[in-house]
Amino acid sequence: MPLQIYNSLSKKTDNFTPVHPPRVGLYTCGATVYDYAHIGHGRKYVGDDIIRRTLVWLGYNVTHVQNVTDVGHLVSDNDEGEDKMEKGAAKTGKTVWDVAKFFMNDFYASMDLLNIMRPHIICRATEHIPDQIALIETLVAKGYGYETPEAVYFDVSKFSKYGSLTGQTLDQKRTAAREEVETGVHKKNPADFVLWFKCVGKYQNHVMRWNSQWGEGFPGWHIECSAMSMKYLGETIDIHTGGIDHLSVHHPNEIAQSEAATGKQFVRYWIHHEFLTVDGQKMSKSIGNTYRMHDITERGFDPLALRYFFLTAHYRSPQNFTWEALQNAQNSLNELRGKIMFWKTKKTEPLDETKIKQAETRFQEIICNDINIPRALAFAWEIVKDKEFSEKEKEYLITDSFDKIFGLKLKETNENAAIATANLPENIKELVIRRESARTNKDFESSDKLRKELETLGYSVTDSPDGQRVRQF
Ligand code: AMP
Ligand code: ZN
Repeated sequence: MPLQIYNSLSKKTDNFTPVHPPRVGLYTCGATVYDYAHIGHGRKYVGDDIIRRTLVWLGYNVTHVQNVTDVGHLVSDNDEGEDKMEKGAAKTGKTVWDVAKFFMNDFYASMDLLNIMRPHIICRATEHIPDQIALIETLVAKGYGYETPEAVYFDVSKFSKYGSLTGQTLDQKRTAAREEVETGVHKKNPADFVLWFKCVGKYQNHVMRWNSQWGEGFPGWHIECSAMSMKYLGETIDIHTGGIDHLSVHHPNEIAQSEAATGKQFVRYWIHHEFLTVDGQKMSKSIGNTYRMHDITERGFDPLALRYFFLTAHYRSPQNFTWEALQNAQNSLNELRGKIMFWKTKKTEPLDETKIKQAETRFQEIICNDINIPRALAFAWEIVKDKEFSEKEKEYLITDSFDKIFGLKLKETNENAAIATANLPENIKELVIRRESARTNKDFESSDKLRKELETLGYSVTDSPDGQRVRQF
């Protein structure tokens, strides 16, 4: 069964066919690195990771490219307000360059915790300024860009397909954008957007600046994605993803820039991920519900339990985070790991290839139906409980096969995982780890003492061939 995926461009579920099979170019809009990564990012990039893993499962040879926005993104996606990087610098007292480095590292460290595969190419906007300038030059030469005293703009009225992604006509877009026009800006059209900011007026002291034929300045936010995606993946890209907020401004602008420059279709399949809310509200600094990975681990949760939680919602549905929901995900993951540890104690035996193939085919059908990951997870649990499958067949299907897409590191389940993931308080974890080293050293006296100590604290310990199993009474 081919992959069927909802395409924001056609506004329907399409059969996926890449331009040059088996190669697939996948571009995922990256983060703006001016503040810590939060669990909303986690949801979006786990979603992208699942798409990539699905393509690999289907035998495609994927090249995954992701940008890092470290210049040019203003507080409003419509080129207005403060520059996010300069805001981050003012807040932290660091230079903009250090802010970018620090938060980029934080972003990828957070994504690593969620077992998100790193993109093959991570490209920073600040390291691709000549590519962006070259693209702007092409646009100006072709009559799509015009210069004003403060910036170089893209002229949306010249690009007839401007509303193709949003379904908005230029008139509707104009009305929506009218409110946002700043006085003193010499735009021809309120929907025109910046390709190049000049270091004049409110940007005269802008720290990040480069020379160009339009004077010193810095690129607008949208141009980096057009320039870098086409540089690494060619003029027509198979899949381009982003959060749902990118559907109305960033992605239409990327299409306009790229297609105006090349005359070719820029992206064949546009995928948009819905947002994560927290306790039913938008994540926001003022409410104090902008959780980072650090907040998850600090409360004793395994980052992979958060990944498990993300797998319980479809990427096109909004998902609401609560601590209770995360606890449920942690419990399910612990239960699954417990089962795997039990299956591992069983002797190896031949697997029924036909049954395995059938289960894998069914799993693939589910995934290929617009990446229906919550249904795929439910199917995995059906297999776990299905008496028709032997323990070893279950172990194979869950850890060797399905987990290639889930990415929960189930194959690595062992006693350490059980200790680390049991969501135990720190003092209990420490005793369990001490007992583990006593057991390894065959120091049974200490091991017994530690077991008793754990029991007085309300935890039972059983030893299995795979290590200790710890449960609260
Ligand atoms: P940013 O760092 O704001 O540029 O965002 C990077 C990506 O994360 C974008 O694709 C956003 O759409 C996405 N994103 C930001 N906040 C959330 C959220 N609460 N839930 C899901 N995705 C988000
Ligand atoms: Zn982008």
